[in-house]
Amino acid sequence: MKSDITAQHIEDAIDKGEMVLHYQPLSNLTSGEITGLEALVRWHSPKLGQVDTAHFIKILEHSDISLIAKFHRWVTITAFEQILTWQEVGISLTVYLNFSARYLQERDCLNLIKSLVQDYKISPSWFGIEVTESHSIQDMKAIQFVLTNLHSMGIMISLDDFCTSYCSLEYLSDLPAHTIKIDRSFTQGLTCDNFQRQNSINIIVESIIEMAFKLGIEVVAEGVETLKQLEKVTFLGFDSYQGYLLCPPVPVELITQMILRERSRRDSYTSSSESMWQAIAA
Ligand code: C2E
Ligand code: MG
Ligand code: MG
Repeated sequence: MKSDITAQHIEDAIDKGEMVLHYQPLSNLTSGEITGLEALVRWHSPKLGQVDTAHFIKILEHSDISLIAKFHRWVTITAFEQILTWQEVGISLTVYLNFSARYLQERDCLNLIKSLVQDYKISPSWFGIEVTESHSIQDMKAIQFVLTNLHSMGIMISLDDFCTSYCSLEYLSDLPAHTIKIDRSFTQGLTCDNFQRQNSINIIVESIIEMAFKLGIEVVAEGVETLKQLEKVTFLGFDSYQGYLLCPPVPVELITQMILRERSRRDSYTSSSESMWQAIAA
């Protein structure tokens, strides 16, 4: 079934409204507060069933640039409409949108974001861009131009899946980033059973955190699934984390309910936030 998916299926799915965005919270490790939400696309096709996101994103990224642009336009409009709805009920968390590095190398991408920010009257601090990089960046100057412009508009830039590319350090020196997200494979390696691997990953991650601190860049741990991993990322000095332990990506109605309930709970008394999020997300 997987290999049957084509660019045409993806285009039809956008046109027919078969895709939705789910949202996963990020939590600050010092305050325990929810500091942002990552928007992640979900596609349920009546013909193909639930389509694996990473799989169809890979097909999309190898498609014609006009389809890539159409998809990112849909994601941005959908998220902006949701941000406005949330603002109306007093929810003003930064919403992070995944943008493929391939599209971020296009001038059209900058024009799209600028015009939608204007049309929807979105404050640049209400959203951020996660640079997802499934194949390496071909034109560093072009992506630098787009990201520098977005950065100067006040939009938060996050380098996603950090550590998974041979060029991660080059990206860190050449691209304007507020945040790096350490890939799940590294978060999980921090407490893995293979002592030698665990030890080298700990050393690598510690050095990245120290380097990021000196550069004034925040570090997020992706894919935290266990308490042991949470303790480890707290000990190592990560700024925030994301993962199933706190909450998986969930539909908009559920995340809204969770944020509002968490807020009223915080207003009435204080204790650790994690259990509450886990209980609702379960
Ligand atoms: P990503 O941006 O690194 O997103 C994190 C992925 O890890 C998501 O997979 C999320 O569901 C999953 N995840 C989160 N916490 C945990 C955890 O604790 N354990 C495990 N095992 N997984 C966790 P998902 O939603 O399947 O997305 C896969 C990738 O597809 C994303 O990786 C991103 O690169 C891409 N993607 C998703 N939505 C979009 C989008 O709207 N636009 C673009 N361009 N790419 C997208
Ligand atoms: Mg991401
Ligand atoms: Mg990631």
